[in-house]
Amino acid sequence: METLVALTDRVRRLDGQGYPAYREVRGSYAAGGFRLVVDHVQGDPFAEASRLRVIVPADSARLPEWATLTEARRVAAADFLNRAFHEALLDLSAERGSGRSGELRVLEPGQQVLERSALHVDGEGSVEARFRVGLPARGRTVLGHAAADLLGHALPEAVHRALLYHSLDPAALRRHVEVVEDARALRSQLKARGLVAFVADGSSLPRRSGVDDRPLSADRAVPFRSPESLRVVLEAPNAGDVAGMGIPAGVTLVVGGGFHGKSTLLQAIERGVYDHVPGDGRERVVSVPDAVKVRAEDGRAVAGSDISNFVGALPGGGDTRAFVTANASGSTSQAAAIVEALEVGASCLLLDEDTSATNLLIRDARMQALVPDALEPITPFIDRAAQLHAELGVSTVLVLGGSGDYLDVADTVIAMREFQPLEVTAAARRIALDLPTRRRPQLSAWRPIGARVPVPESMDPSRGPRAVSVKAFSEERLLFGTEEVSLAAVEQIVEPAQVRGMAHALAWSLGGALDGRRTLPEALALVMQALAERGLDAFQGEPTGELAAFRLHELAAFMGRLRSLRVRRA
Ligand code: ADP
Ligand code: MG
Repeated sequence: METLVALTDRVRRLDGQGYPAYREVRGSYAAGGFRLVVDHVQGDPFAEASRLRVIVPADSARLPEWATLTEARRVAAADFLNRAFHEALLDLSAERGSGRSGELRVLEPGQQVLERSALHVDGEGSVEARFRVGLPARGRTVLGHAAADLLGHALPEAVHRALLYHSLDPAALRRHVEVVEDARALRSQLKARGLVAFVADGSSLPRRSGVDDRPLSADRAVPFRSPESLRVVLEAPNAGDVAGMGIPAGVTLVVGGGFHGKSTLLQAIERGVYDHVPGDGRERVVSVPDAVKVRAEDGRAVAGSDISNFVGALPGGGDTRAFVTANASGSTSQAAAIVEALEVGASCLLLDEDTSATNLLIRDARMQALVPDALEPITPFIDRAAQLHAELGVSTVLVLGGSGDYLDVADTVIAMREFQPLEVTAAARRIALDLPTRRRPQLSAWRPIGARVPVPESMDPSRGPRAVSVKAFSEERLLFGTEEVSLAAVEQIVEPAQVRGMAHALAWSLGGALDGRRTLPEALALVMQALAERGLDAFQGEPTGELAAFRLHELAAFMGRLRSLRVRRA
């Protein structure tokens, strides 16, 4: 193997040549304590920067055994190193010519701890980091000396700062690992305790802003304190006993005045399917791993979802057992979101009145009197919520300040008052008796949801000469092949890297797991199995550092947002 010194000599000699001369630096180089691999060289300084990897063997990384002992700890340690490496590269990145010249960049993690292809720690404790380097040029002329400095000095400096244990803060790494391990332990206790979510006392739920997921500053955030009646104590391996509010399975309402923190609580529960970094405020807010936020999304396309339990005969005679539309209404889009979540096994639905279709949630006595049943195709969620739990074991947490009709069907009622929860179930029961709504429940049997078989030919990830082309602009928007996809209503996607991960996983599954015969849940279960067994690299021919792990539920929601999707009935 050549050495890094030989590489820097080589790029110095390329000085003054045309940009394509950089192509010859592809290869593998031994540096002091690590190996540098140049996987792909950009075509010009304005293109996506070149793809490189650093592999640090265990005996140079010297991560302690406690950091790599279990899968959870390795994911946490890798996340920690990813953050340190991001900071180092950001610091050492500099403009060194035209376009991206001098750029050093690795995937930037958000508030969640996720498995990402940018940084991997294996069972032996060796570390692999994948990142991008803008090879320097003036116009299209190689700047060899700048390249030598970038590869020979800046990069090794970043590796030394971020990927070797001796330069890291051991207490911070330990905390990172333990916080993640604790969160997973808390989450794993929920089902046995009959809970769907847990919010530890002292948690800080509010965020800095609607577009900034970092915690609101401590002097402004009111820390969470559980009401005694819902207080439970769970065990965490590192933190010991953790007290907090347990949200029981069943139908739970979160009520309270406007601006009293209802949606903030629900959003924390939505994110409770993920582990968070220390200091986030939601480290000990956990929910069952298959809790799914479902909301209205008028204008979305629906490909054959069976929404007939919520929406019967439509005007014009549309078949709601296999509902197809390019332009769903608020109510039909939310009905589709609900049944699509159930299709892939959600055990807890999370709804917020702020993002729900009113007519899907409720139809009160006066509307029942005014609009005859025969002219109302909708069976509102209020008539399904208790049934979903009793018959399918699916719980609901619903934020609702606007309709007391739900007091009739709620098992637990939590009131948010000045950002603090109170349990008001008993008062709600009394009120439900004292003030009958005169509403007639529209009860009917739950019909099993018809299975869908996705047609692989309806999804095309290719663009021009490229068989798979994915461009994620944000966690809400991407290009899949030539199709623009909006994921704005899939609220539990937290990073653009997850969008890339899902897009590549879907492309990978076409013609394989998604063979035109398997049902949607069968096919996607195979994708998730590949992810669990082989990691994110299962989905890409060439290793890149830009993917993050995702849940089955978001993958299904992603597929459901492809306007081109067609399905067959099983
Ligand atoms: P609601 O859904 O009840 O109308 P929100 O959850 O949207 O209320 O919260 C209203 C505002 O209060 C938001 O700006 C939110 O960030 C802030 N907030 C929520 N919880 C807290 C808290 N515990 N401490 C301080 N501010 C909070
Ligand atoms: Mg709200």
